Amino acid sequence: MKKIFDFCFEVEFYLKIAISCTIVQQGFYLLLHNIDIELNFITQVVLYWLVGSVSFYSIGLFIEKVIKNNDTWTEKLNVRVKKVKKQPFPSFTIKGIIIGEIRSFIAALIILYLAPEVNRGNGLLLNFGWFLMRIVLADFCFYVCHFLLHKKFLQKIHLKHHEFADSSSFVAGHKSLTEYIIVTITDLLPIFIFGYDITQLCAWTIIGNAYNLEGHSSLSIFFVPSDFHDLHHSCFKRNYGIQGFWDRLFNTLNSPTKKPGMMFPIAYLEHLIIKSPSSLD
Ligand SMILES: [Zn+2]
Ligand SMILES: [Zn+2]
Repeated sequence: MKKIFDFCFEVEFYLKIAISCTIVQQGFYLLLHNIDIELNFITQVVLYWLVGSVSFYSIGLFIEKVIKNNDTWTEKLNVRVKKVKKQPFPSFTIKGIIIGEIRSFIAALIILYLAPEVNRGNGLLLNFGWFLMRIVLADFCFYVCHFLLHKKFLQKIHLKHHEFADSSSFVAGHKSLTEYIIVTITDLLPIFIFGYDITQLCAWTIIGNAYNLEGHSSLSIFFVPSDFHDLHHSCFKRNYGIQGFWDRLFNTLNSPTKKPGMMFPIAYLEHLIIKSPSSLD
């Protein structure tokens, strides 16, 4: 029974990502097909870069400055079980922000230049299927790449990201340039193979930023149903995927504490039916 719940718990995450991406993609499709802007190469690069940057900072600031300023919300949403020493989130400097933005602009330019453009339209099922395949694959690719980054010969590249055991949202973007390049290429591999549709790419970036920032925030808000990645930061081993599916399969899972609640129905059901100690709130 527990195994079935674990499987459904991980599928729930994949479905949530695929459904959210599809909804956001529909929004972009409507917007771009109703306004009179010629979507040439450079407007697409600027749009993709802007969507990525604006969503990263606004979601991160919303979690850190709005949600975490409210003690009741923070306590209610907190998912961290293991105690860690307090740390501030990575500091912002004008120089750091400018370098980060130049880095993501160049990445956007290279990605859109190299990948072939395709138009996948606004079919709901087609988009949902594409995003579902995309997240399962991205989780696998991230698992392999992150697992290797923890091996002795590559660990140096990844240590910057692990400067924070007390992880907060913006730790999501705290990584060395080499790690940034490796992770970006790994995440976008299917784009190079299957081509990009700008509305899908923008949706993927927003949702990707949302679950990545949430996964580092020590809170369970909407996408992240456990302390899975939080545990990775406090223990520096195991839990290499975006979430537990591949770690469970390859036996590298450090069992996370699930957060039952309205947003996480499978964990809630499991809590009700099994009442296992790991699912206690
Ligand atoms: Zn790591
Ligand atoms: Zn991390």
